[in-house]
Amino acid sequence: MLDGPAMPSESKEPELMQKIVSLAKRRGFVFQSSEIYGGLKSAYDYGPLGVELKRNLMGEWWTFMVTSREDVVGLESSIIMHPDVWRSSGHVGNFNDPLVDCLVCQERFRADKAPKLAAGTPAPITLGDKARAKLAEEKVKELLLLGEAKLAEGQTLKRDGTSVLGIVAGDRSYVCPNCGSPLLSAERTFNGMFTTSLGPVSPMQNVIEAVREGVKGGASDEDLHRLAVEALAKTAVYLRPETAQGMFVQFLNVQQSQSLKVPFGIAQMGKSFRNEITVEHFIFRSCEFEQMEMEFFCPPGEGPKYLDYWKAERQRWWEGLGLSKEKLRFRKHDDAELAHYSDGTFDVEYEFPWGWDELEGIASRTDYDLKAHMKGSGKKLEYFDPEAIDPSTGKPGYRYVPHVVEPAAGATRGVLAVLCDAYSEELAADGSVDRVVLRLHPRLAPYKVGILPVVKKDEELVKRGREIAARFLASGIAARYDEQHTIGKRYARHDEIGTPYCLTLDEQTLQDGTVTIRYRDDRRQERIAVDAAVDVVREALRTGRV
Ligand SMILES: [Zn+2]
Repeated sequence: MLDGPAMPSESKEPELMQKIVSLAKRRGFVFQSSEIYGGLKSAYDYGPLGVELKRNLMGEWWTFMVTSREDVVGLESSIIMHPDVWRSSGHVGNFNDPLVDCLVCQERFRADKAPKLAAGTPAPITLGDKARAKLAEEKVKELLLLGEAKLAEGQTLKRDGTSVLGIVAGDRSYVCPNCGSPLLSAERTFNGMFTTSLGPVSPMQNVIEAVREGVKGGASDEDLHRLAVEALAKTAVYLRPETAQGMFVQFLNVQQSQSLKVPFGIAQMGKSFRNEITVEHFIFRSCEFEQMEMEFFCPPGEGPKYLDYWKAERQRWWEGLGLSKEKLRFRKHDDAELAHYSDGTFDVEYEFPWGWDELEGIASRTDYDLKAHMKGSGKKLEYFDPEAIDPSTGKPGYRYVPHVVEPAAGATRGVLAVLCDAYSEELAADGSVDRVVLRLHPRLAPYKVGILPVVKKDEELVKRGREIAARFLASGIAARYDEQHTIGKRYARHDEIGTPYCLTLDEQTLQDGTVTIRYRDDRRQERIAVDAAVDVVREALRTGRV
């Protein structure tokens, strides 16, 4: 993990992604983690502008999902939880479960649960859409060149709609449950969670003792490995791989302390950690990331209704951030893809520069999660509604385990989608790039207003400029006083970081107390009174006028 390129292998990314990665670094949105030491693969730091953008995005989510509603409350659970939470949720399996990665679609699955297919049998690979099928075909071509895939006798590789045809199953005799690919990584015991140990004593002493005993008893290497893992497990705790379980295990405390009536939701934002084998596309898939998740608890049978409701709400939210409608879509999970407990799941997908990919999952999870924790903890996680009719008795008084609908969005992915959507190049008449504009929604922009005196030599102008900036800051509007370089360069810089409004002070400002407000998107300029500036900008922010 310590080696690898300082930035993601940029040459493999589409040109637009390279431009966004470069702008993100140049302007202080996102830096490679520990860059002066050569970088840590798949870890990123949010710079001065990135942290504002990310917080603005997460603040918008919190307002939309929690503080603007009466039926959703917030929670902040700890990152390290009781290890049994992850046993009950299924995240910690048997340590000997062999896991395999599909080399075509990246699905990770248990080898012993995969669909069987005899060696030499044709193995069609089928993806969700044509774009993915095309990417799959490229991947198979690469693997054929490396000798890792085998064509059927007398066949050539071909693509038919969403399927890639021509290859056969190998000696493994099973295929990817997601796409049908027989092209798979080696089997390995793999834990996707980051493990650490709780307590001041080094867990290594337990390992040494266990292994010493094992060697005495003539244990094989495989047995020694198991003994070591078991010895470590005694003190092991995990960095959470999702925020959701924190809300399930606190369901009762939240419900009772707030006297909440079902249906209601518990929402949480925060860091999660996954030891991903494949990290890719800049901040899209990294080992440390931020989530925005909400568990909506409802009576049995009402999951599908609330799935529809939250699907519409979440669409309204993403579109409200200014993301292009044609670059957002819902993808319904088909039966093969659907988790066994779910009675309906949609992905919200965004068309990133490399293709459609997941921004958020909205799933109707039935009572699977609460029941799993009831079984694991031995505690009843039920709700009693004295007025509702119990279907089994036909009388008022209904005790049940609530069902759950979960909209689970990626905050860091959201930041990338917003950056991709906002990035635009305006061309001059000769086809060259005239300016780069980050058309961020004004509420997401790191700075709302730039305060620019035309010349920095004029002391009076500088003084007035600083005064105006102070007024904005005192009003809670992120302003940036900026006197470096020519006015043209300063406009260009603010266009590139998405500042929606610039106020320019000139000679006339000293004479009649007016400034020019310049709007980012169409560069139009208006003369307004200095005294009205805060109100004009506040109103523009409210209406989203840029
Ligand atoms: Zn696959």
